[in-house]
Amino acid sequence: MNNQRVYHFQEGNAGMRELLGGKGANLAEMTNAGLPVPPGFTVTTDACREFYEKGGQLTDEIFNEIKQAVRLLEQKKRQEFGNPDRPLLVSVRSGSVNSMPGMMDTILNLGLNDKTVQGLAQSTENAKFAFDSYRRLIQMFGNVVFGVEGIYFENLLHSLKEKYGLEQDRDVSEEQWRELIGQYKSLILEKTRREFPQDVYVQLNLAVEAVFRSWNNQRAKVYRKVHQIPDHQGTAVNIQSMVFGNLGNDSGTGVVFTRNPSTGEKSLFGEYLINAQGEDVVSGVRTPMPIRQLEMEMPEVYAQLLATAQRLEQHYKDMQDIEFTVEKGRLFILQTRNGKRTAQAAMKIAVDLVRENVLTPGEAIRRIEVSHLDQLLHRAIDTEAALEVLATGLPASPGAATGQVVFDADTAEEWGRSGKRVILVSMETTPEDIHGVLAAEGVLTSRGGMTSHAAVVARGMGKPCVCGCEDIRIQSGLFTVDGQMIREGDWISIDGASGRVIRGEVSLKDPEISEELSELLAWADSIRKLKIFTNADNPEDSAKAREFGAEGIGLCRTEHMFFGADRLSVVQEMILSDTLDERRIALNKLLPFQQGDFEGIFRAMNGLPVTIRLLDPPLHEFLPDMEELIQQSVELKYAQKTEETVKELERVEQLLRKVRNLHEFNPMLGQRGCRLGILFPEIYEMQAEAIFRAILTCRGEGIEVLPEIMIPLVGHEKELKLMRELVERKAEEVLGEEKEAIPYKIGTMIEVPRAALTASKIAQHADFFSFGTNDLTQMTFGYSRDDAEGKFLTHYLEDELLSTNPFQVLDEDGVGMLIDWAVKQGRSVKPELKTGVCGEHGGDKQSIFFCHKTGLDYVSCSPYRVPLARIAAAQAQLEFGSASTAANGRNKVATTS
Ligand code: ADP
Ligand code: MG
Ligand code: MG
Repeated sequence: MNNQRVYHFQEGNAGMRELLGGKGANLAEMTNAGLPVPPGFTVTTDACREFYEKGGQLTDEIFNEIKQAVRLLEQKKRQEFGNPDRPLLVSVRSGSVNSMPGMMDTILNLGLNDKTVQGLAQSTENAKFAFDSYRRLIQMFGNVVFGVEGIYFENLLHSLKEKYGLEQDRDVSEEQWRELIGQYKSLILEKTRREFPQDVYVQLNLAVEAVFRSWNNQRAKVYRKVHQIPDHQGTAVNIQSMVFGNLGNDSGTGVVFTRNPSTGEKSLFGEYLINAQGEDVVSGVRTPMPIRQLEMEMPEVYAQLLATAQRLEQHYKDMQDIEFTVEKGRLFILQTRNGKRTAQAAMKIAVDLVRENVLTPGEAIRRIEVSHLDQLLHRAIDTEAALEVLATGLPASPGAATGQVVFDADTAEEWGRSGKRVILVSMETTPEDIHGVLAAEGVLTSRGGMTSHAAVVARGMGKPCVCGCEDIRIQSGLFTVDGQMIREGDWISIDGASGRVIRGEVSLKDPEISEELSELLAWADSIRKLKIFTNADNPEDSAKAREFGAEGIGLCRTEHMFFGADRLSVVQEMILSDTLDERRIALNKLLPFQQGDFEGIFRAMNGLPVTIRLLDPPLHEFLPDMEELIQQSVELKYAQKTEETVKELERVEQLLRKVRNLHEFNPMLGQRGCRLGILFPEIYEMQAEAIFRAILTCRGEGIEVLPEIMIPLVGHEKELKLMRELVERKAEEVLGEEKEAIPYKIGTMIEVPRAALTASKIAQHADFFSFGTNDLTQMTFGYSRDDAEGKFLTHYLEDELLSTNPFQVLDEDGVGMLIDWAVKQGRSVKPELKTGVCGEHGGDKQSIFFCHKTGLDYVSCSPYRVPLARIAAAQAQLEFGSASTAANGRNKVATTS
């Protein structure tokens, strides 16, 4: 084992982040690249872990290593730590592996004491500067090491300036700084019963310990939780010789980005302060100047800064965020890191770097954070004009939504089902409200923060959400805000990106794909192997998805077409029918609707495959709720008997009988999917007929139709065989002669574990497998999703029993194993078997990576996630190369057949 815990900057490089932290690794990299970095060294993250293992104590061993490193620094700088004649001063800087801006603490000017401050005054011939530096040290040290709150120091400084009638810190004289230093020392003594240490090595020891300890301060802990940074990682400490930006008007300090971090535009962006040190730029004591100004004030330094910025960007091949200090006209670089940027800037910068030949298209694609695409691809409010903003809450989940107000999840679901757009407004949401969130366009809560239940759930579902909007007061059936009243059913709009709550309906605009994004997507398309399909149930969504680059429809759910206002009553008529003939009559009424839907979708997807799933949900979903019917029947029984009420009662009772009849103990595992098609073949016959008729009509219009008919919930090969025969019969009947010319496919969803296990048998009757990973996850885990997410899944996730929600991120170990097996088995009997995943997982990066590795042909996701999926699929190809499973599967067949 390597016991080295201290590395001089010359000994490290950018690849050593885990050990040296990001800041240390980059300081090393820059030192070795010959950039003007003040010399120093890094105490490793290993040392930090050791510090915690020893109960929060720096061991003598480590401290001796640090002392040796200081000695080397002394030689390099020709100065001596604690020597009043030529004192060495250092900064003690935290630096974790993942950047955690401002989360941990840094101390500057360490090595100053009552004696060395005199030496510094003499050697710089600037006593005012020396004492200013000293009071800064005492303040930072008092704050970081002894925990005295900064405000006490600020107050003393403020009183001092008031006493002498001074405006700015720079007006304070040497004498006055000395006075303040005395006050600071007493303050520390009074608050902590400890003296500010005069021994510079004691200063150093305590400072390093304090930086290690700051890894566990409250803000750092919260930041890690939010950004999923592991607690055990620890921080490194950088000890670096000081350079001074506060030495006069030929000195200064600042921060620059090599490109504009909000637009991505290629021009130096940043701020600086003349005659200032370290944190002054960000702390807001003085208003900094825009970096352009430096070109006028110090043209040579500016030219050097510009050149250095360009060099750093070329070196790191990415936009950099750089800290610099100018000491008496000399530029020093104190930090560089990949700059944080907005989603929009990220796309522009990636494309520009390719155009400038800094990156290859593949490197640019690898860089893209898919979560950025998620941000870019949400709807927004169309116009800013004349918005009546009622209140502003927390911007908890991006995107805008407009709809009618409802106050509970059940109403949200009911109204949503009848085709209304609703916004769920609630004090806060609980896991019991999931179905309401699902049905709503967006969610507004009056309580709860960015990590409240509503916020987390809405983000997970990609729905707009405004949280903690405390100005609204919810009462029963209405809310008030600022003297105005909004009732259930009134229209409001919310903007989850800004937190605004707006009165009335507003028009929303669909997200647009910028020129840069479309360039990136084109590169991604040329790289990826996995095809990207979409889930769409109507022509509008299909067209939208196609615009976003979908290469087909992977899942068209026919039941959604049954819910429309004009159809539901016919569907109910069909369900209530007691005889086959009655049922046929109702189905015949439905047929033209279905046919029309399919025609619309085929037109929108001209030339691309369309996978249509035959009816899947249990029939009771189309009937009213049982409790409601009981209530109605009771009310009617007690109502005055008229011809009308008698008839109505009869109708309600009939419905009730049917609902009771259809009642199931566990509908998820009940009479649904192909089981419906087997018991009521006339339903699937009608659907198949509608599909084939639509094909004929569209072909007549010159449209190329590539239909794929999908049988849901198959668990046994005989089920599929039977349903395939049914569809083939209809094809024969409707298409006649033309049948041969039409390239239709018949396949199945693999969503019952038994189907996955017996895939080689199922494949004999299937042209394709589409993994319905939502049901497959439910049945593999034995979780019903609504119950799981409503009851215990949150607990499982919080306690890390599960690392991710398996309904969002595909469970590779279990569900993934079934998929892998089924693909291999299926292809062993049918090498050309087409395979894909449909459902939410198809739009999740990690799950897409899995699908690529497993050698699936496509993933299918919601229209707005198609661009994200295109990028993720390209990233998978770049990361893992071409999938091996697919090739192996095919080879096996070739050699055994
Ligand atoms: P943070 O991670 O909060 O940015 P840093 O360690 O980067 O903390 O330091 C805080 C400020 O002090 C920065 O402005 C930095 O440039 C400045 N600074 C750090 N070390 C030195 C040094 N050796 N000489 C001059 N300024 C320094
Ligand atoms: Mg910094
Ligand atoms: Mg299913």
